[in-house]
Amino acid sequence: MIVVMKRGASKKQVKHVIERVEAMGMKAHPIYGTNRTVVAAVGDKREVDRTVLEACSGVERVMKVLAPYKLASREVREEDTVVPLRSRASGPPSALIGGNKVGVIAGPCTVENKTETIKVAESVKEAGAIALRGGAFKPRTSPYSFQGLMEEGLEYLAAAREATGLPIVTEVMTPEHLSLVTKFADVFQIGARNMQNFLLLKAVGEADKPVLLKRGMSASLEEFLLAAEYILSQGNPYVILCERGIRTFENHTRNTLSLAIVPALKELTHLPVIVDPSHGTGKASLVPPMSRGAIAVGADGLLIEVHPEPERALSDGAQSLTLEGFKEMMNSLRPVAQALGRDL
Ligand code: PEP
Ligand code: MN
Repeated sequence: MIVVMKRGASKKQVKHVIERVEAMGMKAHPIYGTNRTVVAAVGDKREVDRTVLEACSGVERVMKVLAPYKLASREVREEDTVVPLRSRASGPPSALIGGNKVGVIAGPCTVENKTETIKVAESVKEAGAIALRGGAFKPRTSPYSFQGLMEEGLEYLAAAREATGLPIVTEVMTPEHLSLVTKFADVFQIGARNMQNFLLLKAVGEADKPVLLKRGMSASLEEFLLAAEYILSQGNPYVILCERGIRTFENHTRNTLSLAIVPALKELTHLPVIVDPSHGTGKASLVPPMSRGAIAVGADGLLIEVHPEPERALSDGAQSLTLEGFKEMMNSLRPVAQALGRDL
């Protein structure tokens, strides 16, 4: 349910509505838009007396939210959410996802060593990336594959941030690792395999850092938004949705990159949507054209794997661009972004 406050409703009136919602056994999430404030009332109460809320002063109307996801829905918040790529407590952000600029996050699949991590960070920054990606904890299909450098990898990412100022996006695989990853990450990545790890979603929902949530490889649009809802419902307003391809019968690509979900999501949610064409295709040669396609259909950003020598990469070499390849791709994206009135 949402309680739409009148234009110019006072703080006291909003506070009163919050108290009434909570007294009814629901959780109140005030959302302050540029024009007006709404209070989203969420919980598992089936029947509540709307007239009580309608009677509160400063209330314009009370509406039922039809979508099963509430806080993620455009019904609750019309304006696009712009996500700062850092902790909410640490002052003005240096990089944003959402808004007019298409934000590109780039870096290796796995952090392998310090020198190369810094080298990649410097190079992708120069080419126009706004954040560095890199996995220190890797969810690998085989237990015999390289599992990541863990804390050492996080330290190398921090060194690359120190050298370039780029915020760090890195995966957290389990709630037990959250306190360690928090010390280094600016943005938590939740991997496709963990999209429905509800305890992990709740844990990052309580954190003070934005979350990049990847679509599960067999998740529907609705399941994807309900996973985002888990995070939002814990009080963390900053979720970036990332389409990374799904499993289909088609096997000419590693996954089937479902670009249609981008405009579909943008209709239904205010959260920013980015695309990962690296995992979405599994082939470096397909990454630039699918990146151009992603921008053309309205993506707010891209997540791109880059490696100085892809054939030597410890994971996902086949889908990684070289440093030069990334630069060339960025140059080819600019006219597409400009044609849509966006910056890159
Ligand atoms: C990754 O980004 O390297 C990764 C493991 O992605 P996904 O969870 O989408 O497979
Ligand atoms: Mn990867």
